[in-house]
Amino acid sequence: MQINFWGVRGSYPCWGAGKDTIGGQTSCVSVTLSDRHSPIIFDMGSGIVDLGRDLLAESVKDITIVVSHFHLDHVMGLLFFKPLWDKSTTITFYAPKTPDVMTLETLLREKLFCAPLFPVPFDQIPAMCHFKTFNFGDEIDLGEEAVLNSLALNHPGTATGYRLNHQNKSFCYITDHEHSVEYNDTDLIEFVKETDLMLFDTMYTPHDMLSHKGWGHSSWQSAVEVAKKACVKRLALFHTSPDYEDEKLLEIEALAHKEFSGAFLAREGSGIEL
Ligand SMILES: [Zn+2]
Ligand SMILES: [Zn+2]
Repeated sequence: MQINFWGVRGSYPCWGAGKDTIGGQTSCVSVTLSDRHSPIIFDMGSGIVDLGRDLLAESVKDITIVVSHFHLDHVMGLLFFKPLWDKSTTITFYAPKTPDVMTLETLLREKLFCAPLFPVPFDQIPAMCHFKTFNFGDEIDLGEEAVLNSLALNHPGTATGYRLNHQNKSFCYITDHEHSVEYNDTDLIEFVKETDLMLFDTMYTPHDMLSHKGWGHSSWQSAVEVAKKACVKRLALFHTSPDYEDEKLLEIEALAHKEFSGAFLAREGSGIEL
């Protein structure tokens, strides 16, 4: 299982001096499995644009995208995802059925690919798009022995956490989640238990968390707490604040690493093999 980070920031893309080491694109992670030609993509933040360029160059025609939730930083990159504009591509989207939340298909058709926000309506997209929905807790068979499980997270409007199992390896994608003291973490700990790699929301420092209660995000301390409790093997600090420069994030990485030796900061353009 090969994990690649295409976008690691939360909220909005950022760039410039002090932001180059970690990268400035928003959430997008690809998982490549040895017996599968196309990667499984988690979220379509601005980081998916560069991934799309690579997929087109490699003539990957069958694409799977799993979406955590519909906040703009997790969907904005789809507009400029080049395979979407290629009629020989098939894209299958996965997102949960959530009460009181529109489906991903409705969001794309009626909100995102619409005037005045975007000039091309969804019906005119050349790629073939399929939408698969599921309920929290359903086991989703992605084919080639890849199985996806889901869990509702603590985030305004809800976000979905995922666990991907393939043969004897697993990867957990836990972002846009507030791990507060009021949150009962029993289900989450069980969900991520002993995974090979857990990616976790690390938007704020513990100090900045104090002024962002209820915003739906966590600190590196919560990420480490969950990693230890659940005996995960590696922890990727993810969805970092666009306000933080490299120096501050490298300090956060050092602090987390001191507490949990498997912790590291997800860096755009980097990857890890499990
Ligand atoms: Zn986000
Ligand atoms: Zn969000």
